[in-house]
Amino acid sequence: MTDTTVNRWHVGANVPGYSPEQDITCCESADEARDALLEELRRTRDAFDGCDHENITDGCESCARYQAIRDLCTSIDDSEMDVSEGYSAMVDIGRSLPIHHWVERTPDGPVHAECNPDS
Ligand SMILES: [Zn+2]
Ligand SMILES: [Zn+2]
Repeated sequence: MTDTTVNRWHVGANVPGYSPEQDITCCESADEARDALLEELRRTRDAFDGCDHENITDGCESCARYQAIRDLCTSIDDSEMDVSEGYSAMVDIGRSLPIHHWVERTPDGPVHAECNPDS
């Protein structure tokens, strides 16, 4: 038998030192993990408070942070970024702590016993 290690990818977002507000997503492929990462990032972007993001104002810090998240999403999406080795980014939302967005490759096994793939 060849090596039959099956990997899964966990995707989550949390303030460093705190538990994630949303459940961690357990994905069966790196592509699926990238989609879940984008979904989380867009959730962060859309929950971001600040000014009217329909009208980005030059020189506004809040607009700049919003744009940074939007640009990060665009670059991940357009490049079809490979997250098979994992991914980590700190997203500044203008509070004292950033939000840590991450993807972690985890070999299939007992650690996934409580996971709900595709949920
Ligand atoms: Zn603004
Ligand atoms: Zn899992």
